[in-house]
Parts: sequence; structure tokens; C-alpha cells
Amino acid sequence: MMAAAQRIPLVAGNWKMNTTVPEGLDKARQLVAGPRPDGVEVVVLPPFSHLWPMREVLDGSGVALGAQDVFWEDAGAFTGEVSPLALSGWCDYVLVGHSERRHLFGETDEQVHRKLARALTHDLRVIVAVGETLDEREQGETMAVVHRQLDVAFTGIDAAALDRCVVAYEPVWAIGTGRTASPEQAQEVCAAVRRRLERLFSPQVAEATRILYGGSVTSGNAAELFAQPDIDGGLVGGASLKPPEFLQIVAAAATARVSS
Ligand code: PEP
Repeated sequence: MMAAAQRIPLVAGNWKMNTTVPEGLDKARQLVAGPRPDGVEVVVLPPFSHLWPMREVLDGSGVALGAQDVFWEDAGAFTGEVSPLALSGWCDYVLVGHSERRHLFGETDEQVHRKLARALTHDLRVIVAVGETLDEREQGETMAVVHRQLDVAFTGIDAAALDRCVVAYEPVWAIGTGRTASPEQAQEVCAAVRRRLERLFSPQVAEATRILYGGSVTSGNAAELFAQPDIDGGLVGGASLKPPEFLQIVAAAATARVSS
């Protein structure tokens, strides 16, 4: 079994639809220039418009580049969509299933699955986001919702591809609200995610897969969240737009792993 200490912590910054291209490149330069501890993987997910010029800024820095979404076909009459084939080979990660895609744009579990499956065929690394709404939590449905989202997303995915997958548990009620899940709440669901991966794949896959927490992570609460045994880092929205704050969150991931 792989101990938590052997999973490399990952901190990903989801910029959502924020910054102009020059502003984004400036933030990326600040990240690259700032202090970053060894032993933490850092990913930046800017808007699609920023990806290509940002590749150059990040090259050689060790900071990985990711897209906030991707389509499930390689090419064709899909106006406005972005193909995984077009990202493959230079963009490291894609995010699929973010709650804003699911809830604002009506994306279904099945569509999340199709995006995941297609992205993996193009050698992209994929962060799969899952999480319950406040209503679902209050109805006691958190685990059922997260299990369903995982089961559908990973249907038919080869276990060998799981080394390119990361799961992000993001309770919808904690995203962009300033209302963070308590470390205990976050740990409870991240542990359940790991058990589900064990059932879907194997104990080895479950132990090796990184599970992130997302939802109002800041430099003030990151250390406590990341110290939980099944939380291997964070998917950070608002706080990732402030490079110094984001770098403090990255530092917290290194410290938490050393001391846990
Ligand atoms: C997110 O966008 O994935 C997120 C967690 O946002 P925030 O950190 O702002 O809650």
C-alpha cells in the first residue's frame, strides 16, 4: 500500500473566466519567479485564450499548464468547443466536471465521462471534479452523489490510465462562497472517494491516485485541509488569482505532507 507521503501533493489554480491575456501572463511570470518548495506539483488552469502564450512563460519552470475544460470529440462541427487533440502534446492537464460546468451549463455525468475518456486517449492528464450541492448534503445524499459521479465518469476507463487521473472533491456549497468544508468533512468525503476508486479499480490504484479538496481554500485554511490523510492537495479558485497567496498555499502542501 502506498502511504499518503508517497503521493506527490498537487495544487492546481483554476482561474475560471478571469484576467485578460496580458494580465494572465503577468500573473504566470509572478508564479514562476516566486519561491516554490520541492515535492509539490503545481498546475495553472487559465482561460483557453491564455494557454498557448502561457506555455512559453511556464516552460522550464516546473509549473504545469492545464485547460479548464475540453470537448469529447477530436474535430468537427462543434462551434466554440476545444478539442483534446489540439491540446495534446503541449498542454499538460485538463479539468473536467467542474461544478460550474455541471450546474451553469447543464453538463451531465455522461458528458463528463466522455470528456475524460477522450482526453485520456490523447495522453492528457485529467482532473475530474465531483461534489454535492448544499441541498444534496442536507438531504444526506453526499456520498450517493459523489459515488454516482465517480462511477459514471470512470465507466470503462482502463486502470492503467489512472496514473494520469486526479480526483478533486469540491462541495458545490463551498466553491466561491468563502464557506470552506471543515477538514473533517473534507477528509470524510475524500476517504470515501478513495474507497470508491478501490471498488472501481483496485487497492493499488486507489492508494496511488491523488485526491484534492476544493472550495474556498486560502492560505489560512490550506495547511489544516492538506494535513488530512486522504487529501493530497487542492483545487484553488479565487485565491489562485493572487500569486503570493497561491504560492503560500503551495508551501502549505509541502509542509502538510512532511508533518503528516
Ligand atoms: C474552484 O473554482 O474550483 C474553486 C474551488 O473555487 P474557490 O477556491 O474560489 O472556492
